[in-house]
Amino acid sequence: MSISSNLARIIQRINSTAEKSGRDPATIRLVAVSKTRPATDISAAFQAGQTVFGENYIQELVPKLAEVPVPVEWHVIGHLQSNKVKFIAGQVAMIHSVDRISLATEIDRQWGKLNKVCDILIQVNISGESTKSGTTEVGAIQLVRECALLPHIRVRGLMTMPPFFDDPEAARPFFAELRRLSETVAALNIAGVDMVELSMGMSGDFEAAIEEGATLVRIGTAIFGNR
Ligand SMILES: *Cc1c(COP(=O)(O)O)cnc(C)c1O
Repeated sequence: MSISSNLARIIQRINSTAEKSGRDPATIRLVAVSKTRPATDISAAFQAGQTVFGENYIQELVPKLAEVPVPVEWHVIGHLQSNKVKFIAGQVAMIHSVDRISLATEIDRQWGKLNKVCDILIQVNISGESTKSGTTEVGAIQLVRECALLPHIRVRGLMTMPPFFDDPEAARPFFAELRRLSETVAALNIAGVDMVELSMGMSGDFEAAIEEGATLVRIGTAIFGNR
């Protein structure tokens, strides 16, 4: 299967799931996860109409920023070390994986030097698995409050990665919990915070995530093939 036919198939599944759950398909954005994929694959997806791409590793993203010849929108979705932030300052539209104040402070500092604002999501480790990044649910509320005070970042919502399951239904409670947490944070009406994005759902479980309210689905292998 080609990248363009895979993309068409995924977009069709996103749209039909949205419609079945009474949602406007335009409220769901596809983040094509291009980690380990060459710049040529990204260009091919862009030619097929895909504009948003997610990368996990800064050492992989930085060369791609230069190599990819088309104007894509980059999102960082993987664990991010503070000392790497300077390499991507001003060049990514959104960072999904903010899970500690030290990282948020460094993003604010680097974007501040450029007099720009970076959209961020707070990554929450709903399952509590020790191998996963992310704050606790209680920690997320505190982190949102602290981030709201930083002028060069803007909190746009939450992100999570549930444990891996063969059955996508098993991931659903984690998606539902992220949405409940988002509603809890939204109800606090913290100045400067817009809880509009829920980044959840991957190749194996994005339909359940959309049914539970996802606005950003992060899909890699179903577009580009196995890594
Ligand atoms: C790799 C990755 C994805 C995409 O996973 P697929 O199963 O290939 O769709 C999504 N989110 C994060 C954080 C990832 O690291």
